Amino acid sequence: MNPGDVLSYLEMCSQEGVNLQRGMNYQLRPGRNVILMSRRAGAPYEDRVEEDGKVLIYEGHDEPRRPGGPDPKLIDQPMATSNGVLTQNGLFFDAAGRAEKGREPEVVRVYEKLYPGIWVYNGVFRLTKAWRETSGPRKVFRFRLELVPDRDSPVANDVDLAHTRVIPSAVKLDVWRRDGGQCVLCGRRDNLHFDHDVPFSLGGSSLTAANIRLLCARHNLEKGDRIQ
Ligand SMILES: [Zn+2]
Repeated sequence: MNPGDVLSYLEMCSQEGVNLQRGMNYQLRPGRNVILMSRRAGAPYEDRVEEDGKVLIYEGHDEPRRPGGPDPKLIDQPMATSNGVLTQNGLFFDAAGRAEKGREPEVVRVYEKLYPGIWVYNGVFRLTKAWRETSGPRKVFRFRLELVPDRDSPVANDVDLAHTRVIPSAVKLDVWRRDGGQCVLCGRRDNLHFDHDVPFSLGGSSLTAANIRLLCARHNLEKGDRIQ
C-alpha cells in the first residue's frame, strides 16, 4: 500500500485487521496507531495539510453528544473522561509530549474519507507535537503529523519519495470528479491511485489538480517502471 491509494472501507479495515469505528485509534495493537480524516465540506473537524504536503495538522475530537447535554462544539475537547480515563485526545497528546521530550516519535497511519465508502491512504506519519488552542468559543487539540517514507513500501526510493506528499482534500475531490472516479488510461474503477503526473522532484506541485490524475494499479506500476 502506498500513499495516494484509494480503498473501500472494507479494504481499509482489512489492512488494519479490525473494524475501524473511531477517528482516533491509539495503539490499536502494539505499535499501530491509526487516524481517520474527513475534510469534506461539512466534515466535523478542521484538519489541514501544510508545508506542501509534508505535514498534517489533525484536530482532536469532541466530547460525545449526549441527550439533553451541551452542544459538543461549544465545550472544550476533553483530555479525559469524568472518571479520569484518558480519551483518545489524551492518549495521543501524551504520546506527542513524550516525543517533544526526546523519545522516538510514535508513528500513525492516516486514512482520509473522500466520499462514503471511498478512502485514501495518506501514509505513515510521525506524531511530533500536540497542543491546545482556542477555536471559537472553546479549546481544541491539534496534533502535528510529519510524513515519513512508508516502511511497508517494497520499492522505497527517491522516485517514491518525490510522490510521497499528501494531496490536499480539495484537490483530491477535484481530481476524482474530473476523472470520473476511474483510471484515466483504461477506465478501471478498482485499485485506483492518485498519481502525480509530474513528480514533485521535477517541479510538479501537489497542490493543483492539473498535476494529479487517477491511475489504476497496473498503469501506476507501468509509469513507475518508465521513471526508473
Ligand atoms: Zn488503468
